[in-house]
Amino acid sequence: MSLYGHAAADAATNCICDLRSDTLTKPGAGMREAMMSAPLGDDVYGEDPTVARLERELATRLGKGAAMFFPTGTQSNLAAVMAHCGRGDEMIVGDRYHLYCDEAAGASVLTGVSMVPVAMATDGGLDPDGIAAAIKVDDPHYARSRLLSLENTVGGRVVSLDRIDAGVQVAREAGLSVHLDGARFFNAVTELGCDARRLAAPMDTISVCLSKGLGTPAGSVLVGPQEMMGQLRRNRKILGGAMRQSGVLAAAGLYALEHHLPQLAEDHAHAARLAAALRETGIGAVSSHTNMVFLTPQAGDHGRLTQHMAEAGIKIGGQSPAIRMVLHRDVDDDALEAAIRAFQSFDPTH
Ligand SMILES: *Cc1c(COP(=O)(O)O)cnc(C)c1O
Repeated sequence: MSLYGHAAADAATNCICDLRSDTLTKPGAGMREAMMSAPLGDDVYGEDPTVARLERELATRLGKGAAMFFPTGTQSNLAAVMAHCGRGDEMIVGDRYHLYCDEAAGASVLTGVSMVPVAMATDGGLDPDGIAAAIKVDDPHYARSRLLSLENTVGGRVVSLDRIDAGVQVAREAGLSVHLDGARFFNAVTELGCDARRLAAPMDTISVCLSKGLGTPAGSVLVGPQEMMGQLRRNRKILGGAMRQSGVLAAAGLYALEHHLPQLAEDHAHAARLAAALRETGIGAVSSHTNMVFLTPQAGDHGRLTQHMAEAGIKIGGQSPAIRMVLHRDVDDDALEAAIRAFQSFDPTH
């Protein structure tokens, strides 16, 4: 079968395989059917049974008291920060983490929380000594240290449970709360081979994205103790995230937990397969973790490589120096092999 004749090719764009992100996953027939048939109500009135079911399901899976459905992970993180911190309080966060780098500084802009970045270590975690050094003593000159915000997975890297526990211990000793930006929480759980409850246990709150590898069109869930839900409901209202018949989206989440979550391991295997094939091509330096592959082509090859791949119907990101590729459920075995063949036919600069 020719590259262009691939069965999964999108006729309009001639796209065989889109490796830019796992957010590009589109709902399939089963998920759309679940969305169509979900019982609905007004969730602001607390009357959407499907949202309630999704929230109960996530809370149970993570071993926490309750959960709340949000439109996005950015908003779910922000609502959590707002619940843990007041104006003039301080949050300790990795200097490469999404909450610090990729959320338009919302925690500072909208809630008056200052963010103290701690250098992310090479394993994606935060060094306990770095956390300790960032915690301020109670002194009127200083902001109040209130929250440690962790992330897992980080750029695809899974942070080990030992690493997390060590950092959380330092935070707890200083009386801080702990939040986990678990946009790819279930990729981390899949890679760690642990129960979801184990990764959730050290945290007060966990934000989980449904719209990444789990493949829903939208939605994140913030999981935490029942006592925080009143405050979180208020925060979500302030942030404009209280939705009405959102069960139509929650139904996609329930479907994803049942049908897509068990398949995340396949994305990880695909990433490993792609990384191994790329190493053989000599196009550049390669690393891979969970569902992500990073390729650093030789200087000057970026544009040519992206163009070459696009002509073969393979979309890759334009990041530099390392191009990030994310494997997801809409990249099947055939699409992956097509991508690998396209990489193999690229002639790098020597
Ligand atoms: C995607 C992502 C988020 C949230 O993103 P939204 O697009 O707002 O849903 C938060 N943290 C990390 C690490 C992410 O990858």
